[in-house]
Amino acid sequence: MASPVAAQARKLLRDLALRPPLLAARSQAVQLTPRRWLNLQEYQSKKLMSDNGVKVQRFFVADSAKEALEAAKRLNAKEIVLKAQILAGGRGKGVFSSGLKGGVHLTKDPQVVGQLAKQMIGYNLATKQTPKEGVKVNKVMVAEALDISRETYLAILMDRSCNGPVLVGSPQGGVDIEEVAASNPELIFKEEIDIIEGIKDSQAQRMAENLGFLGPLKNQAADQIKKLYNLFLKIDATQVEVNPFGETPEGQVVCFDAKINFDDNAEFRQKDIFAMDDKSENEPIENEAAKYDLKYIGLDGNIACFVNGAGLAMATCDIIFLNGGKPANFLDLGGGVKEAQVYQAFKLLTADPKVEAILVNIFGGIVNCAIIANGITKACRELQLKVPLVVRLEAWTVNPVGLHPYLSTVSFVKWTPFSHIRWVIICRYGGNTSLMRKPTQTDFLKNNVDSQLRG
Ligand code: GDP
Ligand code: MN
Repeated sequence: MASPVAAQARKLLRDLALRPPLLAARSQAVQLTPRRWLNLQEYQSKKLMSDNGVKVQRFFVADSAKEALEAAKRLNAKEIVLKAQILAGGRGKGVFSSGLKGGVHLTKDPQVVGQLAKQMIGYNLATKQTPKEGVKVNKVMVAEALDISRETYLAILMDRSCNGPVLVGSPQGGVDIEEVAASNPELIFKEEIDIIEGIKDSQAQRMAENLGFLGPLKNQAADQIKKLYNLFLKIDATQVEVNPFGETPEGQVVCFDAKINFDDNAEFRQKDIFAMDDKSENEPIENEAAKYDLKYIGLDGNIACFVNGAGLAMATCDIIFLNGGKPANFLDLGGGVKEAQVYQAFKLLTADPKVEAILVNIFGGIVNCAIIANGITKACRELQLKVPLVVRLEAWTVNPVGLHPYLSTVSFVKWTPFSHIRWVIICRYGGNTSLMRKPTQTDFLKNNVDSQLRG
């Protein structure tokens, strides 16, 4: 199991990756892919919700226009809502690469569902929350549309500053909740929940009232809020967001949209949910990295970064920028790294044709540098590395006396902007597995870093 520190670092990495990229501000060319970890599509989240007593519309899922048309007929609804399934929000106001405007459409005619689905499936949908080129739509949701008389916002999230779950709601829900939070912060209501005591009736009632639900709708909304909270706990979510949490003219409280984030440390007890992980929007290399518990974010430069910890990863990217380079990726090894993972990481990095140099920057606070060094040695032996490699290992088990002879024998310093780095091993392999350096009297003669580092 990863240590809590490592888990925290991963969380931080995720937060950083999800935030509007800091790096992008410095270099417009860099774009962080805005998603990571377990992600469910809206239809999957809604299935979880309806299985747990939360009110959602009847729906089918389709991955072709023909299927969408059939689903629309089968629904036999007065009105139909067709929704592109991508992991980003803001779909309503998005635009497809086919030219179609809007990722959410209402119609009474099943034929129109077929026509619209044709312009959605297989095309990219760009919204405020996606990269500029958008995200490819593979599936659509065909649901029974309901009239909405009022749209509110409701979310339940784990909030570090409250040390637990908090309900967040606003009577002004709908598409632009971020704007409400900025212009009318008094319209955002919060209820901190004691995770041991659970949600109190009074809290659910107060939130329902703050959201503006009146009369019998207030009890119904409070009941839905409690069910959402129970679901949140049951599935180890870190966030359940419903926007709009709406009411219909017939007097029903309905979750019209759903976005759930999960605690990836809970995977061991949420196997069914994690099995639903929709990785279709990931880069294949990210999926490959995830298999080995490596956190990988593709960037568009040419210097591969191989780092442990999100903070060091960000700092390393910054240093590369400051020295006129561009990172090709952001690969976080995490704390509990094993030699085999180091090897796999190298395999991933060297398979990327963009990569022209590899920079390893490891601070051995949690990880033992010997593990990294041994992993690198194995990778170099077996992978026929063709690009320059710069390694900085600092702290645990880095023995300066041990590294020094190595350093002195390897004069292949091609690129090293790290003036502050104390110990740098530079090595490079050609077409064979022999190390390109002068022989020495040390164990490194046998390409054996192990004995030097384990002392
Ligand atoms: P998002 O834009 O990605 O957040 O997608 P939503 O699922 O929230 O849909 C966007 C908007 O479409 C909502 O805020 C609603 O105003 C509208 N909408 C979605 N479903 C329905 C529906 O069943 N009936 C009506 N009348 N409007 C809907
Ligand atoms: Mn929404």
